[in-house]
Amino acid sequence: MDEEADDDHFPDAKLYTRSLCMTCKGKNYSCYYCNGDGKNYIEASDKTIARWIVGVGEERRSDIMRCIKELDNEK
Ligand SMILES: [Zn+2]
Repeated sequence: MDEEADDDHFPDAKLYTRSLCMTCKGKNYSCYYCNGDGKNYIEASDKTIARWIVGVGEERRSDIMRCIKELDNEK
């Protein structure tokens, strides 16, 4: 089996979040990075990911925790 084709286990996978564009902060938001909407994508920090999990609500959070346990058991 080709390990590289398995997206679920891709080692360099990253999560991104939208953030205020620092390149044109205080000016008109119109640079190459934010495309005029004033937001650009940055890699999500662990804290951002944790905040997102807390924000999705109890039911989905439980699902996520169950998925983590399942993945841990596969190791
Ligand atoms: Zn910008």
